Amino acid sequence: MDKKEIFQSFSIDPYLFYDALVNSTDDYIYIVNMADDTSLVSDNMLRDFKLPGLLVPGLIPLWGELIHERDRGRYYDSIDRMMAGETDEHNVEYQIRNRRNEYVWVVCRGLLKRNENGTPLIFAGIVTNLGSRGKIDSITGLSTASACADTVNVLLNKQAAGGILLLGLDDFSHINKLNNHIFGDAVLRQFAQTVQSFLPLQASMYRFDGDSFAIVYAGADTDMLLDLYEKIHAYCNRPNQIDEITYLCTVSGGIAMFGKDSDNYLDLIKFAASALEASKHKGKNLCTLFTPELIQEKLRQLAIGDQLQNSVLNGMENFSLAYQPLTDAASLKVNGAEALLRWKSKTTGPVGPNEFIPLLESMGLIGQVGRWVIREASKTCLRWLDRAPDFVMHINISYLQILDEQLIPFIQETLSELGLPSGHIVLELTESCFVTEMKSLQDTFRQLRQLDIRLAMDDFGTGYSSLALLAQSPADIVKIDRLFISSIHENSFNRSFINAVIQLCHSVGIKVCVEGVEKQEELDAVLDIQADTIQGFYISRPIPSEEFERLYLNEPNH
Ligand code: C2E
Ligand code: CA
Ligand code: CA
Repeated sequence: MDKKEIFQSFSIDPYLFYDALVNSTDDYIYIVNMADDTSLVSDNMLRDFKLPGLLVPGLIPLWGELIHERDRGRYYDSIDRMMAGETDEHNVEYQIRNRRNEYVWVVCRGLLKRNENGTPLIFAGIVTNLGSRGKIDSITGLSTASACADTVNVLLNKQAAGGILLLGLDDFSHINKLNNHIFGDAVLRQFAQTVQSFLPLQASMYRFDGDSFAIVYAGADTDMLLDLYEKIHAYCNRPNQIDEITYLCTVSGGIAMFGKDSDNYLDLIKFAASALEASKHKGKNLCTLFTPELIQEKLRQLAIGDQLQNSVLNGMENFSLAYQPLTDAASLKVNGAEALLRWKSKTTGPVGPNEFIPLLESMGLIGQVGRWVIREASKTCLRWLDRAPDFVMHINISYLQILDEQLIPFIQETLSELGLPSGHIVLELTESCFVTEMKSLQDTFRQLRQLDIRLAMDDFGTGYSSLALLAQSPADIVKIDRLFISSIHENSFNRSFINAVIQLCHSVGIKVCVEGVEKQEELDAVLDIQADTIQGFYISRPIPSEEFERLYLNEPNH
C-alpha cells in the first residue's frame, strides 16, 4: 500500500482528527482550498488575528494586509514564486499585527499541493509565534543570546563538531550617527536577513548586543566557518541600499571551535569575542581564528593602553614626532616633511603607530593627541620656514578627528596664534575616509578650502580605490601607497597603474606623491613617470627634528 492508500484505509472522522490536531498546539494552522480560494483557519488564529471567521475567503491578501509593511514584500515574493511554479514551499519570517494591534514576530511555513497538471489544489501549513518563546530580538527577528546558549549546549552535550562565528559590524555607531537609529535598525535587519539566506541548514544565527551576531555552525570545521565568513564579507564589501540611501558597512569576525578551543559555552563565546576583537585591532573587515596567544596579546594591549593613557595625562610624556622628507621630483630637493607620531613604552618594547594609533582611537584619546600633533608639527614648520620659505608640513588626521566639528576652529586658532600661513600645511586623510565620509565631509572640505589648507588622500590604492573617485575628489594631492611602488621596475601592472593615476590626477590639477621608494631602481622608475613628490626610505627614514635640520636645513634655501 502506498501512503495515500494507508491513509484511506485508516477510517477516522476527519472533523475529529482536525479538531484534535488544532487543539494540541499553540501554533496557528491554515488550509487554503486553492480551487475556490476559501481557507479554514484554526480557532486560535481567529482568536488572535483580525479575520472574518473560521472560513476565510481570500485569506492570502487579507493576511498580507496584517503583515508589517516592511516585511510584506518578502511574503508576497514567496507567494508569487509558488504561483509561478518555481517552488512549492513557503517559509517566511515576518512581523504581523494581532487583535491587540501589537506586531508579533512569526514564522510561516506551508506547502502547496498540486494535481498532476501542476494546478494548485491545497496550500496548508502552520504559523509559529516566535515572540511567545520570549527569545526573539524585535529589530532583526533573530533569536537572542539565550537561544544561542541552548543550541550550543545541546551540541556540546552530543559532543558534536562545529564552531561559533561571532560577527561585529565595523563602525556601526558611525552609521547610526550619520543617519539615525531607525536607519541603523534597518541596516541591522537587512544584514541579519541577508546573512541568514546564506546559511547552510546546519547553521543558525543569533543577535547579541548592539551590532554583534553569532552563527552556530554544527558539524563545521574551521575551513567551513572561514568560507561562510568569506561569503558574508563579500556581501558587506559592496555598497548596499535602504530607502535609496547607499551605505557601506563592513563586518569583522572571530571563530572559536567546539572541543579544540573549549567544551564550555561561556568560554567559547569569550574566545570568539577575543578573536573578533583581534580582527578589529588588525584593521577590521577580516576574520580571526581563536588561539591562546590572543589572550596574551590582549594583556599586552591592555598594558599599552594603560601606559598610553598615563603618557597623555602626563602632558604627552614619551610622545614625539619624527619627520620624513618629501622630495620634489623635478629638482630632487627636500621641500617638505610628513610628521609621524612616535611613542616610547617603558616596558613593552617598541610599539609603532600602526599599533598605538588604533588604541588611541578606541580609547577616545585621538582627539587630544591629534591636537598636540597639529600644534607641534606647526611649530616645527614655522621654525623651518626661516631656512626653507616654501616648506610644507604634512600632518596625518584620523577619521575620528575629521568628524569632530572643533577640528577646523582649532587648526585656525593654532595657525593664527603661531603666525603660520595656512598654505604651509597639508592634512593627510586616508582614501577610505574620502569614500565613506564624502557626504558628511563636504562642509569640512569647503571650510578647509576657504582657509587655504590643502588636503592629501593618503594610501591611495589600498582600499576602495576607483579612478572615478579621483576625478571628483576634493584632494589637492594624492599619495599612492607603497604597495604599488615596490618592484615597480619589474611589475608592468604597477607601473601602468601609477602612470594612469598620475595622468588622471594631472588632468584635474591634483599633484601626486609616490610613497615608499626604497631602491635606486624604484626611484628611477618613478622619476620616469613624472610624479610630483617622492617619499621613502631611499631618501630618508622618518628622523628626529634636530637630525632633519642638520641634514636638510643647514643652509638657507637648501
Ligand atoms: P602613513 O601615513 O602611510 O605614513 C607613512 C608610513 O610609511 C610611515 O610609517 C613611514 O615610516 C612608512 N614609510 C615611509 N617610507 C617608507 C619606505 O620606503 N618603506 C617602508 N616600508 N615604509 C615607509 P609609520 O611612521 O610607522 O606610520 C604608520 C602609520 O601610522 C602612518 O601611515 C599613519 O597612518 C599613522 N600615523 C603616524 N603618525 C600619525 C599621526 O600623527 N596621526 C595619525 N592619525 N596617524 C598617524
Ligand atoms: Ca600619511
Ligand atoms: Ca601613506
